[in-house]
Amino acid sequence: MQKDINFNCPNCYSNKYKSKTTMGKKYNDGPYKDVVSEIQCSRCFMDIPSNLSENINKKFLDDCRKLWNDVYKPIHKLDAAKCSKCYRYYWEIEKFLFKNKISTNDIFYQTYNPKKNIGDLVCKICDPEAFKSS
Ligand SMILES: [Zn+2]
Ligand SMILES: [Zn+2]
Repeated sequence: MQKDINFNCPNCYSNKYKSKTTMGKKYNDGPYKDVVSEIQCSRCFMDIPSNLSENINKKFLDDCRKLWNDVYKPIHKLDAAKCSKCYRYYWEIEKFLFKNKISTNDIFYQTYNPKKNIGDLVCKICDPEAFKSS
């Protein structure tokens, strides 16, 4: 794991992270418009915008927590990957798998839903058998 990031999770106050990724989704407006990358916390497993969690001066940690909880988190919850069977969010699934010492790679598969453009997601907790062959 890289050591160059000074990470502070505004969600659970951990300073350990899993990985940093470039934003997959593009927002045309709202607070996420300027978010370039996210850092996944290794305790609460949430993807946190790096502008709220990376190299933040101690003086501003409270501001970041407030921004996260009041502004960013509600938006993140609306768009976050969620299981179509158990309705758990991706971070709840990863936390569960991690606690049970199950790999957190590929936590979802998609099923075809003709009514929607994207398939429904089914998680590894609901259908562990589906992940065994891979
Ligand atoms: Zn966290
Ligand atoms: Zn599920």
